[in-house]
Amino acid sequence: MTDLRTDTLDTFAEIFGRRADGLWSAPGRVNLIGEHTDYNEGFVLPFAINRRTLVALGLRDDRKARVGSSFADELVEIDLSELSPENLSGWSAYPLGLAWALTEFGVDLDAVPGFDILIDSNVPVGAGLSSSAAIECAVAVALNDAWQLGLDRPTLARVGQRAENVAVGAPTGIMDQSASLLGQADAAVFLDCRSLVSEVVPLGLEAAGLEIVIIDTGVEHAHATGGYAERRASCEEGARVLGVESLRDVSVADLDRARDLLDDVTFRRVRHVVTENQRVLDTVRTLREQGPTAIGELLDASHVSMRDDFEISVPELDLAVETAQANGAIGARMTGGGFGGSAIALVPSENLSRVFVAIDGAFAENGFGQPDVFTVTPSEGAKRED
Ligand code: ADP
Ligand code: MG
Repeated sequence: MTDLRTDTLDTFAEIFGRRADGLWSAPGRVNLIGEHTDYNEGFVLPFAINRRTLVALGLRDDRKARVGSSFADELVEIDLSELSPENLSGWSAYPLGLAWALTEFGVDLDAVPGFDILIDSNVPVGAGLSSSAAIECAVAVALNDAWQLGLDRPTLARVGQRAENVAVGAPTGIMDQSASLLGQADAAVFLDCRSLVSEVVPLGLEAAGLEIVIIDTGVEHAHATGGYAERRASCEEGARVLGVESLRDVSVADLDRARDLLDDVTFRRVRHVVTENQRVLDTVRTLREQGPTAIGELLDASHVSMRDDFEISVPELDLAVETAQANGAIGARMTGGGFGGSAIALVPSENLSRVFVAIDGAFAENGFGQPDVFTVTPSEGAKRED
């Protein structure tokens, strides 16, 4: 991280010919449990990880906004007066869309100076670790400070979500931004996506001798075009037929009635969301009462529900989960939106190397591309670095 920080500031100076005013960062996130529940106004339990996106920012005397990224060759430039979702595309829609989205929260772009921004990151892109929220949230805290907006973190999370929904065009919920902005070391963020009330829940991994392993399958997901929007539509349809505002209002006890009213596919989509909400509540309670070694079965059950009911897993994710479980993981599940991306496994330190070796072997044996397997540490949320 120290190196990345210095690199980012140096590159900013090289590209823009002056020093940055400051440096901010925001982490990617992993969802411990609670998948596809956020847009159903349900519960999620993500945590911020020790992979971060950095934003070096310098204000300008004019009204230009310029953004560069280690991720892309080109520098994108636009006048603040022209910022609108229609004028944004590609990777720069994330940082510039964030600036635009602030206008929906009372910020007058006529009253603020332009900026130069350089972005650098060690959050893997498209791995389900939300490099998108990391970039949005890093830009959000940077502009909030530089423009002295005084917006609080829950509001900045909503700004990030608007940028992603409207400027980028990905119909995602508010989980990723909340984790990136509200995360703390060795803790998860329990978020009620209806009230937007959140609570930090200690994980106690270190004390329990547990590691979190991420298996990035390398299979790429695509939110804006993939099955994500289709699953979302199924949930809306289920809620409509059941006569509720959202699936948050359906409990496990209501599922028998739901089975009679819904077609098989819609019923299984609904059952995933309803049981997943209950699993999040159970995980929070179990963490508090018994600690992290007791949540394994809930993680495993979550994976089965996503594989069989929500049908968003892929063979690589199933293999990662099963191999981890068979080699000493306490629990494992795919994490993120699905159709690729990563799996997460909770592994006692002493079984770590066994799990790594087994996963590499299993992927090779099945003719799958080599996965990227690494540990993550639950870490603090977005902050000013320099
Ligand atoms: P995920 O959030 O799972 O990593 P997404 O498809 O939601 O995947 O977001 C990835 C997109 O976010 C990239 O294709 C790119 O447009 C943008 N992005 C992420 N990180 C950066 C970065 N450091 N620089 C520029 N663009 C980035
Ligand atoms: Mg994303």
